[in-house]
Formats: sequence, C-alpha cells, structure tokens
Amino acid sequence: MNPVIALVGRPNVGKSTLFNRLTRTRDALVADFAGLTRDRKYGNGALGDKTYTVIDTGGISGNEEGIEAAMAEQSLLAIDEADIVLFMVDGRSGLTAADEAIANHLRVNQKKTWLVVNKTDGLEEHSAAADFWQLGLGDPRPIAAAHGRNVTALIDEVLAPFPPREVNAAPPDLSNGIRIGVIGRPNVGKSTLVNRLLGEERVIVFDEAGTTRDAIEIPFERRGKPYVLVDTAGVRRRKNVKETTEKFSIIKTLEAIKDCHVAVMVLDARSGLVDQDLHLLDYVLSSGRALILAVNKWDGLEQEAKDKMRTEVKRRLGFADYAEMHFISALHGTAVGDLYPSITRAFDSANSHWSTNRLTTLLQDAVSEHQPPLVHGRRIKLRMAHQGGSNPPIIVVHGNQTGSLPEAYKRYLINTFRKVLKVRGTPMRFEFRSGD
Ligand code: GDP
Ligand code: GDP
Repeated sequence: MNPVIALVGRPNVGKSTLFNRLTRTRDALVADFAGLTRDRKYGNGALGDKTYTVIDTGGISGNEEGIEAAMAEQSLLAIDEADIVLFMVDGRSGLTAADEAIANHLRVNQKKTWLVVNKTDGLEEHSAAADFWQLGLGDPRPIAAAHGRNVTALIDEVLAPFPPREVNAAPPDLSNGIRIGVIGRPNVGKSTLVNRLLGEERVIVFDEAGTTRDAIEIPFERRGKPYVLVDTAGVRRRKNVKETTEKFSIIKTLEAIKDCHVAVMVLDARSGLVDQDLHLLDYVLSSGRALILAVNKWDGLEQEAKDKMRTEVKRRLGFADYAEMHFISALHGTAVGDLYPSITRAFDSANSHWSTNRLTTLLQDAVSEHQPPLVHGRRIKLRMAHQGGSNPPIIVVHGNQTGSLPEAYKRYLINTFRKVLKVRGTPMRFEFRSGD
C-alpha cells in the first residue's frame, strides 16, 4: 500500500499549493471527493522509486470555537487514514493561536508528524522557522511550496522509512481466483451483500487482523471455483466484536478498487443516486477496473419508485454504460446469484486477447461499412489494429491523419469493437496512431 500523507493546517498556509506540487506527476490520479467527505482531496504522486498518496484536508477554520468541531469533522478523519501528517504553518504570518490549537491535537496523536513552515521564499529560513520551535513538534522544516524550495528533500526524508514501490503497481494477484471488491458509500448495503454472497459458500480461513484502513480479504469457493472478496465494509469484524459502525475510509475503498479484478459497486434504490456515488464511480472508471452495478434494496419498492430509479440511473450513469446492472435485494437474496455470471463475464472481457489479424479484419469491416470522413480533401485511412494491453483492453489503431478523426467516428469504432468482440463489464481504451 502507498504511504499516505495528510496535509493539515489552517486555511491559506499553502496546503493546496503543496498538494498540487506533490501530485503533479504523470501518474497522478487525483480524485476529488468533495461531496463524499466534505473537503478531502486525494491524489497520487511519485518521487524517485517511491509512490505515495496525499490527502489535502482543505483547511481547518481559524475560528477558536469552531476548531474542535472542524478538526473532528474532517482533519481527524484524514489523520486517521494517514501514515504521516505534514502540519503546515505560514512562515510569513508567524505563529498563531489556531496553529497552537492544531498542534495540541497533533501532539496527542500517535501519527508521525512533520512540522512544515511554508512561504519561506525571500525569508531567512532559520529565523522564519525559529518561531515554531515552541509548538513542541520537533524541528520546523522550512519550505516554499509555490517554488518547490526544499520540497523534494523533505518528501525524500518523509518517505525514507517506506519501501520503494514500482510506479506502475503489478496487477492484482490471480492465484486465489477472481478478486471481487464490494464498494459503495455507507449504508447502501455492502455488509449485507457480502454476507449474502458468502452465505452459502465455503469460506476459507481469513485474517481478521489489520488496521481500520486495510480492506479485509476473504477467500472462498463457489461451485469449486476460488474467489476472494475484498471487503471494505468490515462485515465479519463487526459481527464478532462489539464495535460501532466503522468509519467509512476512502483510502480503504481506493485500495480495494486497486486490489480487485472486478468492482461491484452497490447503489441504494431507496435513497436514490447522490453525488457521493458519482464521485466514487468516477474513481472506478479512471482506475480501469471491470465493474458491475448492483442497485440494492429493490425489495418492496412501489412500481413508481422503481421506474424513477431506473430512469435516474440511465440518465446519470450513462458514462458507465459498459457495466452490467442488477436490481437486487441483499436482504432477501433476490438476484444476488446473478452477480456471479456477470463478474465472470466482466473478468473474462477485461483479460481477453485477440489476434492482430482478427482486430484488423474487424477494423476493415467497420471502415467499409462506414467510411471515415475527408480531411482537407484526403480521406482518413485506418489500416491496422492490434492489442496494446489488457485489463482494461487497449486497442491500438494505425492509420493516417488519425489525429483528425471526429469523436463521433471514434465512438462508432469503439461501439462496433465492443459489440463484435462481446466485451462487457470492462472499460476499453483506444489509441490512434498516425503514420503521417
Ligand atoms: P490552503 O488554503 O492551505 O490550501 O492554501 P493555498 O495553497 O490555497 O495557498 C494560500 C496562498 O498562499 C495562495 O495565495 C498561494 O499562492 C500562497 N502560497 C502558497 N505557497 C506559497 C509559498 O511557498 N510562498 C509564497 N510566497 N506564497 C505561497
Ligand atoms: P453498508 O454500510 O454499506 O455495509 O450497509 P449495511 O449492509 O450495513 O446495510 C445498511 C442498512 O440497509 C441495514 O439496515 C440493512 O439491513 C439495510 N439493507 C441492506 N440491504 C438491504 C436490502 O436489500 N433491502 C432493504 N430493504 N434493506 C437493506
């Protein structure tokens, strides 16, 4: 798992500036979960052979009365999810009462905390930092986020205890079968579904330990076939131990998405679609994972409510139309069994291999059915197609002037390939290369 760095501090100290600097790499995948957890923003970054995830907490109100509440609301959650806290203060405005209040919280927290003095550009570093010694959080580290001054050196040191990791993490391990990630916002019915999916199956021993941040892996067998459930709901744990509803962890959800082959995203037909669902879905889409949509709590709904949900889902989730959708009741088990064939189809689609011959023939058939347009009096030529990768499948199309291909034509090709190759449940990526 990536080390997770939380940026904490009062507003205007430069947290978003540092966030942007730390996530501005080619592999940055920035997910803005504004609706999901107030103001937390998540991004990935890389430095040398290390990768990391950064959480920008958006700022704690400087208002003395509000500070406890505000800390509790979002920054504490971010700190909970993090391995490292970068507590940022402003070297230009000097120490403030709000800084002290935040420091009091951080001092009792067990997390590794670095005190970072920002905006030291044009200042004498040591004197700018000196003011902050009294916070009792160790050596104040001067930086200038806006100019990148001392930032690399700081992050290098911050990441020193963590092992290197390849920037492109290996695909999830398949040795124990298809890995199914059950995801969704709180209360949509994930735990109920996980229990139902496991209900009649043989559960092989699994490790219940782990921090609140780790998704639990539950290997099981169904009809002689192995699977692993990547559970973000903490279902079994909640059953055994007296525990209040677990905090919803974004990091856990993001890790589960990364660690699964097929994500089953649970939606709640009773509450309808909310922005949080769309943010999460957006993240699944950008991850390239195969996806199944399970609209839950379908039991006992009036026809009118069902029609309304169907219309809403169609209208707002059009961008995920490659995903098979099921209307289920996790509580009663209705249609839950249908998820398995969908999961297998999505997995098989995501990992399909097609010969260059087959893809090129398909391309040529599609082109003769429907010619690409003329550009400056010359017809765009599409000659050859081959597979550039799988999970998700990447199709590389070679031709001339492909840079001028209209979006509508690309869509036509993508739809044709999808239909003929029977690709379901996984995104597909197309790359167009031009010989001129
Ligand atoms: P946040 O509210 O903590 O996220 O702070 P922002 O990142 O939005 O920054 C607040 C202001 O400080 C902006 O006007 C930034 O341009 C400025 N700022 C951020 N970093 C630096 C820095 O290193 N030096 C200077 N001089 N200004 C900075
Ligand atoms: P989680 O937070 O996503 O894991 O959600 P839970 O599985 O804890 O379910 C939240 C609530 O929704 C519980 O009260 C469940 O009993 C209820 N629930 C879950 N699935 C269904 C369903 O299919 N139908 C109905 N009516 N209620 C459900």
